Amino acid sequence: DAAATEAPSAWLQGPPAPQHRAHASHKGSYGDVAIVGGEGLAARGMGMTGAALLAASAALHSGAGRVMVCLMDDEHPAAASALPELMLRRFDALALAELSVVCGCGGGQAVVPRLPAVLARSARLVLDADALNAVAADAALQSLLTARAAQGLPTVITPHPLEAARLLGTTTAVVQADRLAAARALALRFGCVVVLKGSGTVVAAPDGAASLNPTGNALLATGGTGDVLAGMVGAGLARGLGAMAAARAAVYRHGLAADVWPAGAPLTAGALARRVGG
Ligand code: AMP
Ligand code: MG
Repeated sequence: DAAATEAPSAWLQGPPAPQHRAHASHKGSYGDVAIVGGEGLAARGMGMTGAALLAASAALHSGAGRVMVCLMDDEHPAAASALPELMLRRFDALALAELSVVCGCGGGQAVVPRLPAVLARSARLVLDADALNAVAADAALQSLLTARAAQGLPTVITPHPLEAARLLGTTTAVVQADRLAAARALALRFGCVVVLKGSGTVVAAPDGAASLNPTGNALLATGGTGDVLAGMVGAGLARGLGAMAAARAAVYRHGLAADVWPAGAPLTAGALARRVGG
């Protein structure tokens, strides 16, 4: 693919969010992101609230106007102390039809009952992690996902190779043997933009357009960096980028942040989230 030689400008559309802001703008000008995920400890003894908070932090630091967090259990007080900028919401209080929703990050099984509403009503949507595993396992959810394309509702899915394999009903080895083909197949099947993560992230659209992100390195191979990426895509959708532009800008910046990471400093997902806007 000629894509690997594309200039940065081909990946980054629109100004970097925190800079170049019109003087008369306000927080509503930069969009609302809602993170739906973060299962608490109670259900399965495996708390994943951090995943939702990492996505939220990334959305915030990517310049989203307002970031809401809907955790799967009543652990909102802990979230409030983690990032005071976040707005805490119960699921029923989210106006999905007005929001850029990022669903799945650390959501566990608890996201499953929320997915029909998320898929049917979210104005703009990023599906990651447990939301993708739920879709892979449920034909009714797959129908709701494909229905979004017909309604013109922007949707980005961000599988890693195992999540992609589940969605395609194949193995990780098959996905990895031809990552461009796997990403294209997913985009075609579900009618959405696909970010197939891993070394050499592929971004594919339903029309067959696909390219290989030129940025990123193995510093990103640490827990939570995928959640950071999902939050970044959500922030791009919230400020008005289309699904393809939001996905491409996010993967490019996410990888670039890792490529310019200070030598000797550990890359953690939390630190990455704080640097992605800069
Ligand atoms: P996840 O698998 O959901 O935790 O997401 C991991 C994130 O880190 C994705 O954005 C991957 O593309 C990125 N990543 C992981 N390993 C590498 C690698 N070796 N080179 C480049 N990017 C990577
Ligand atoms: Mg992940």
